[in-house]
Amino acid sequence: MTQPTTGAAFAFALEATDGDARAATFSTPHGAVQTPTFMPVGTLATVKTLDPDDLRGAGASMILANAYHLHLRPGDELVRALGGLHRFMHWDAPILTDSGGFQVFSLETLRTVSEEGVEFRSHIDGSKRFFSPESVMRIERNLGADVIMQFDHVIPGQSEESAARDASERSLRWLERCKGEFDRLEMVEHAEGDAHGAPPRFQQALFPIVQGGIHAGLRVAAARAIRSAGDWVGYGIGGLSVGEAKPDMYGMLEVVHPELPADRPRYLMGVGFPEDLIEGVRRGVDLFDCVAPTRMGRNGTAFTSAGRVNVKRQELRADPRPLDEGCDCPTCRRFSRAYLRHLYVSDETLGLRLLSLHNVHFLLNLMREARRAILEGRFDAYSRDWLPRLSQRTVSE
Ligand SMILES: [Zn+2]
Repeated sequence: MTQPTTGAAFAFALEATDGDARAATFSTPHGAVQTPTFMPVGTLATVKTLDPDDLRGAGASMILANAYHLHLRPGDELVRALGGLHRFMHWDAPILTDSGGFQVFSLETLRTVSEEGVEFRSHIDGSKRFFSPESVMRIERNLGADVIMQFDHVIPGQSEESAARDASERSLRWLERCKGEFDRLEMVEHAEGDAHGAPPRFQQALFPIVQGGIHAGLRVAAARAIRSAGDWVGYGIGGLSVGEAKPDMYGMLEVVHPELPADRPRYLMGVGFPEDLIEGVRRGVDLFDCVAPTRMGRNGTAFTSAGRVNVKRQELRADPRPLDEGCDCPTCRRFSRAYLRHLYVSDETLGLRLLSLHNVHFLLNLMREARRAILEGRFDAYSRDWLPRLSQRTVSE
């Protein structure tokens, strides 16, 4: 009898806590992840403008890819035929795939939701598609990431309680269906592997997602229902940073924290501004992801230890200093603000790359330092030092 959702290839070892903040090691079939950490987002099997070596150099240990996008292009079956996502994108460390729930529900005018699933039109060619919990499990199985997320019903952050309850309860029913299909696929592949004398190709863990909007009672109910539905390797916390006020997001993390098992990783989905990372770690979060560092990098905004800097600003025209004097990334080690500004105003692609590299490096470093602070029992001082600086806009956007 297999135990797919608690596979032996995965482990989570808590090393230290400081308040509710945690330092741990999350082991996966493709290696260990020291937490807390930030996962750069490679939506289309590439972290935009960055090479896998750049990511390794920045200290990334786990990255994210997106099932919705890769299903549409190049197709999850093709990725599988080419050996799975790790081989396809030449990243042999851990990968997590998002189920596509967030993308499908973002297609406001292009979708129809039913209990069975979601019908939508491809944003690429307008073709009609259908996602169900079962089909999404097959897609994520084909992609072969270490951690795969359940298909869930995502709603806007400010949704009222009745809508949030419906979506949360549907997500729970879909979780049961995801698990059923996940278990079935593992058994089929075990049988095929036995028949051919080879092991199943991918060992994966299915993470459920705690929903419930900004309603404490719904969050608690969702966390409890998820725990009674299975013994999960880790837990996603979804539906936050989708338009609600920051205090609401932090409040929901505080509500969910005691409801999740201490010995499993918690992943706060789609949250990646520096101050949110620190506030999340303070409330027990281990893993984060967000397109912010690369998207903002492409727009010319840098995270720095003295707040955000817009490199397109006139004030930087003759500024010989690095973007962030405290940063040791390849951008800050080599290039001036003046040069970066020049690249941006000249529409040179190197500018996009250098800023993305810095931003990803910055968030990874912020989490490495947070981890060290937790291990040394000084996370509170660490966050009190960082938070006021991060909210500044040194050269405003
Ligand atoms: Zn830098």
